[in-house]
Amino acid sequence: MADVKRIAVLGAGGLGRNMARLLEQKKEMRLVAVCDKGGYAFDPTGISSAQVEAAAGTTVANIPCIGKTSSDSIADLVALRSEIDGVFLALPNLPNEFLPSVVEKLARGGFQGVMVDALKRTRAVEMMVGLNDLLAASRITCITGAGATPGLLTAAAALAAQSFVEVESVEIYFGVGIANWDAYRATVREDIAHLDGFSVEKVAAMSDAEIEQELEKRNGVLELVNMEHADDVILEMAGIVSRDKVKVGGVVDTRNPRKPVSTTMKLTGVTFEGKRSTHVFTLGDETSMAANVNGTALGYMNAGFWYHARGLYGVFTCADLMPKWPH
Ligand code: NAD
Repeated sequence: MADVKRIAVLGAGGLGRNMARLLEQKKEMRLVAVCDKGGYAFDPTGISSAQVEAAAGTTVANIPCIGKTSSDSIADLVALRSEIDGVFLALPNLPNEFLPSVVEKLARGGFQGVMVDALKRTRAVEMMVGLNDLLAASRITCITGAGATPGLLTAAAALAAQSFVEVESVEIYFGVGIANWDAYRATVREDIAHLDGFSVEKVAAMSDAEIEQELEKRNGVLELVNMEHADDVILEMAGIVSRDKVKVGGVVDTRNPRKPVSTTMKLTGVTFEGKRSTHVFTLGDETSMAANVNGTALGYMNAGFWYHARGLYGVFTCADLMPKWPH
């Protein structure tokens, strides 16, 4: 693997473009490839965030000199596997099995590096974990559920649990504010899928106009309760608490970048002396979704490189490893 890690970002939407900005501030990692539905761009000397940003609203295939139009840009990046050390998956996960199928494609295509996703749904993370044997045999180190929730907040719960001999509950409540839904289409669609009367299949089939109508009905605000979020299965697999004791909800304002509520993770447990207490982890209100998701994903990417170099392959969750802050 190269000294400065060569990163490919799959998906050039809200998260993908912000990942390009974050990577620009890292010396140990360099963005070399990015793709979207219309094609891909590849430059081993590095792709700037300005180049990616200039393609917003169209496709990265339009980036002068390095962009190429393609109807299967993921396959094109698989073909570039020897030029890539790490892959961040910033693609929509609609339907549920889409990202697991992309990971399988990368493994079967001969990629041998590190992969990180910011998957949200319980079922999707279960499918990713089901790929462990294939990925281990392919010499891939994959960290799944490595965004904000699941991700940063789940890892915080795993850390908080250490004070206790029994964990009774984990409650995650998040606030997200974005200026307009257009900036994070997949994220907003996937959140609508959690509302009563909706499903992953249903939102995948809805047009943009129908999504806008749903948002209009709610004044742009989505209130989410008892979400099917993989924080539950991740903490259960880590042996910390059974999934039924993990609750995730939140408020997403799609018309205002200010957070509607602070994001918190509250873990209640009983200590070895028999005392019941609650640890609370609160994110700073000024931190955006992009900062919390992408920062965590890069930390896990860096941890992935560390484990990969030591021959540890397969699928891990955000509660199995600590992220390692990259310079
Ligand atoms: P987006 O809709 O803004 O962008 C998606 C990008 O993927 C676009 O560039 C699109 O062209 C590209 N794309 C779609 N299908 C493709 C295909 N078949 N081949 C190549 N490119 C394709 O998405 P977003 O709002 O940035 O969200 C990305 C993902 O991140 C979502 O799945 C979302 O759930 C997840 N997310 C996770 C967390 C977390 O905390 N875990 C938080 C926010 C978002």
